[in-house]
Formats: sequence, C-alpha cells, structure tokens
Amino acid sequence: MFKKERSVPAELVILRILAHRMKLSEKEKQQLFNKEKGYEGELKFDNLIRELGSLVLNDLLLEVGDTLFQIDTLIIFHGRIYLIDVKTYEGEYCYEDGIFKTVTGSEKKDPMLQLKRCHSELRQLLQKYNYKFPIEAYLVFINPNFTLFLPSQNPQIILPTQVKSFVKKLYSLPAKLSDWHHKLADLLISLHKTENPYVRLPKYEYDTLKKGMTCAACHSFNFSVSRTKLTCKNCGFEERVEVAVMRHVEELKILFPDIKITTNLIFNWCKIIRSKKRIRKILLKKFILKGHGKYSYFVDNALGGTNHQE
Ligand SMILES: [Zn+2]
Repeated sequence: MFKKERSVPAELVILRILAHRMKLSEKEKQQLFNKEKGYEGELKFDNLIRELGSLVLNDLLLEVGDTLFQIDTLIIFHGRIYLIDVKTYEGEYCYEDGIFKTVTGSEKKDPMLQLKRCHSELRQLLQKYNYKFPIEAYLVFINPNFTLFLPSQNPQIILPTQVKSFVKKLYSLPAKLSDWHHKLADLLISLHKTENPYVRLPKYEYDTLKKGMTCAACHSFNFSVSRTKLTCKNCGFEERVEVAVMRHVEELKILFPDIKITTNLIFNWCKIIRSKKRIRKILLKKFILKGHGKYSYFVDNALGGTNHQE
C-alpha cells in the first residue's frame, strides 16, 4: 500500500519548464537528463511494488540533528524496515575497496556510502522517537543495461538480473500490520520536509525567459488560437483556452512563487492570447481579485469566495 505517493521532484518540474524557455548549459542539460532518468527508474520500481500489503513511503526528506537525508523508497513490513535506493546507472562499473568506478577507470560518487549514511541517519531518527526496529538497506540497480563487477557478492546490492527475485522476496515478507506500524508511517510523513535547500537550479529571471504558451503534449510554441481552443500546429493537440491559460499561470507560480498574478503579467507570459479582457475573465473565474485599478492582482481562492466585480 502506498502510504505516500511519489510526485515529480520540484527540481525536475522547474528544469523541464526552463528547458523550453531558456538556453541551458551542457551541465544543466545533463542535470535534467539525470533527473529524468532517476525519476523514471523510481517510477519503474514503484510499479513493481505497488501491490505490496506493507506500507510504502516514497520520496522522504528527513532531518536528524542538522543533517538532511533523502529516502527514495521506505517499506514498513511487520518486523523490519526496508530502505531502498533505486539507481538508474547505465554501462559497466566495478566496485572494489569502497571505490565505485566505470570499467574505464573514471571514479564516481560511491552510492553504497550514501546508502550507509542514510541508513545510520534513519536509525538515529527512529531512536529519537523510541522506535527500535531493524532496518535493512539496499541499492537497486534497475537499468537492464547496467553491469557491476564485484570481487564478491554483496547482499545489499541488487543487480538488474536480480530485481525480479528481490521483488518476489518483498511480496513474501510478512505484511501483517498494526496501529503501531501505521503510527510509525504517519510520524515519518509528518517529519517530511517539503523544501529541499540542496536543490541547485540554473539562474533564471522573468525578463529573459522566452514568453508564449507551450503545447502540453510536445512543448511547441506554435499554435492556432480560436474562440474556445488552442491547436498545436506541430502535433495537433487541442486544449481549451481556459485550461491552457491556467496551466501557464501554474507554471509561472512554480517558477516564481512570490510573483503577483496580474492580467498584464499573464497576458505577457502567454503572449498569443491577444485580448487582455479574455485573460482577465479567465483569472476572475479562478482567483479572487485584490486591490483596485492598476494595482489589482489575483490570489488563490482558498476560502471559496467569489468576485463581485463584473
Ligand atoms: Zn504539440
């Protein structure tokens, strides 16, 4: 049972938007590629364990002392916790004497060291809340095009050819859970941090980002606009104007959480809707208008209020 679902990491959401609206450096493109790969691998593993009767918590960011640590997948079984780090590396690697490198000799960050740290931090955190529960930690290499040469078998390392039997083992573990297990899961979810200060993003600002609406299917900027809908000239995808405008408002709010949503701003951001009145009408339907005249702006309709203007 997925007690905490995985969502697209904020860093990935932002990088995806920026990739269409500014020129990313090679390093940033690589960062986006790696994030996509990593997320794809995690989803692939999620699908394998979706039917587990135990409690699955995805994507946790926790803190112990002054240290933040991230957990891809945590599973609470009847008698133990599994801590799983999914890796999507591709190619041939070797791992010996604590050195993780490609077969051509280029040394990489040791994923086992990271896992061990995470294991120890989780143990400390559970101790702090008086939970004494055995934890087992595993590295799961999910990409079928990955090989790792090991001097001897390491039971914590699950290679692509072993993933199937590893998952089978997970399904065979006792999942009989009590309130106590659910309380532990709820505690970990309550401790989850939503803001990750370690996220590194390219520098961007409103003025230099490319304006215009992008197709939800293929990201093209090329549309024909009719009274009710936008049609992508590249892939033919159709979207109601109102839905497309709101999607772009959300995009702006993700990029600039503190930005004030105004008719002019959205008019400028969407670019291809040539009527400010039309934009305003859409915003009035979805948000609450604050202030007057040129100082007015829109805020989320959290309290379910309505606009009395117009
Ligand atoms: Zn398209």
